[in-house]
Amino acid sequence: MSKPVSKVREAKLELYRKKGKIHAKATAGHFNSLRWAMVWFTQAIFFGACWLSWEANGVSRQAVLFDIAHEKLYLFGLVLWPQDALLLAFVLILAATALFFVTALAGRLFCGFACPQTVYTTIFTWIEARVEGDHLARLKLDQSPLSGRKLLLKAIKHGLWLLFAAWTAITFVGYFTPIRELLPTLPGWNVGPWEGFWLIFYGAFTYVQAGLAREAVCQHMCPYSRFQGVMVDAATKNVSYDAHRGEPRNVRRQAGNTGDCIDCGICVQVCPTGIDIRDGLQYQCINCGLCIDACDEVMLKTGTPTGLIRFMSENEAAGQAQPAGLLRRPRLAVYASLFVVFSVLGAWTLADRSLLLADILRDRGALLRETAEGKIENVYTLKLMNLDELPRDYRIEVDGLPGIEIVGQREFTVEPGSIRPLPLTVAMPGDSGESGIRPISFRIAARHDPATVVVEKSSFVLP
Ligand code: SF4
Ligand code: SF4
Repeated sequence: MSKPVSKVREAKLELYRKKGKIHAKATAGHFNSLRWAMVWFTQAIFFGACWLSWEANGVSRQAVLFDIAHEKLYLFGLVLWPQDALLLAFVLILAATALFFVTALAGRLFCGFACPQTVYTTIFTWIEARVEGDHLARLKLDQSPLSGRKLLLKAIKHGLWLLFAAWTAITFVGYFTPIRELLPTLPGWNVGPWEGFWLIFYGAFTYVQAGLAREAVCQHMCPYSRFQGVMVDAATKNVSYDAHRGEPRNVRRQAGNTGDCIDCGICVQVCPTGIDIRDGLQYQCINCGLCIDACDEVMLKTGTPTGLIRFMSENEAAGQAQPAGLLRRPRLAVYASLFVVFSVLGAWTLADRSLLLADILRDRGALLRETAEGKIENVYTLKLMNLDELPRDYRIEVDGLPGIEIVGQREFTVEPGSIRPLPLTVAMPGDSGESGIRPISFRIAARHDPATVVVEKSSFVLP
């Protein structure tokens, strides 16, 4: 018999924040400083890069811009087109292998320090603490009945959150529409439909994810925590409680056979995901290290060595030695090798990238024709693609048979980022003594840069 609907709903609700909203206690220490350093670093890049300008060929433009309308990605002096999708694939593969490598090395380190969810939750929690006070004051305020003060504090907090989320959304859209063009359109909401959609969506997304959902995203929505198990091994270092040293817990610091943990519970109070690391490794743990900072402070106060909670591997917890060297850890070796291989491939693809692409097709309808002057002619379609930022002039030459030449125009202009199909007629003397299908080659050279040359092979049909 199926469960009543109310029971099913209860079961679902229990899975989500069964302990209520988490108000983590603030802590100080190495890992907290590192977290804030990452917040400043990532946000300086995110909020700053869209304001940088780049001068190219006498024209100033936004240095980092995803110009979807014109199918271009500007990265300072580099302009990428859809034809450069392979480079993007390399970047994604490199990011994935770097993530796998770091996970095999130290678990969810990315989650604890660099994940946007963590970074924005840290910022939103900081705003909340400035408005409502420390974790105890926030808890008290949440539990207090509705009052004018409570309404005012909540309104200020949500107002600041919304302002920050709005600026985040404007910055995000500013990477797709030049931010200096976007800003003047905002006061009168003269934005396009896509810009309007993304401004509202990204703003609401930031507000909900970082302000309201917070650690619930890490606990219930993030798929990474669920499959990280396949990337780690017994030598992976995770934030762990040294149960051998800590147990049995020594509540009153009595002498005798007791552990170093004084059961103060501060490691639980500072945890942004609300777990007790003393219960063992848990998928909710984001390896942020805040419980290490908090416990170290307790250890210093009690005159006990720090490191009761620390980054520790399963091997170390079991008193076994860590494998020496990368090669003894197959996962790490595989991820490192993949990273090196794809870095080299990406660098080579970038270095070998030409701003001119050409494709030649011989007209298969009419194989050859003989002219009144006794010449043999073949007709081709040459497709030229200019990947440069400016219109470019190209000169075309043909080679491979005696007396072979292009009939008519040999120089063409191609607009930036466009493909220009060109009908080409190639002729050679009919009395050259050559016959059958002979290989020839087309040489296309940019007039502004002798190094930009493409040679395309084709064939010439003779009687
Ligand atoms: S902070 Fe340290 S001493 Fe306090 S409960 Fe946690 S592990 Fe024990
Ligand atoms: S258990 Fe420690 S490392 Fe893990 S999420 Fe909580 S505070 Fe961070």
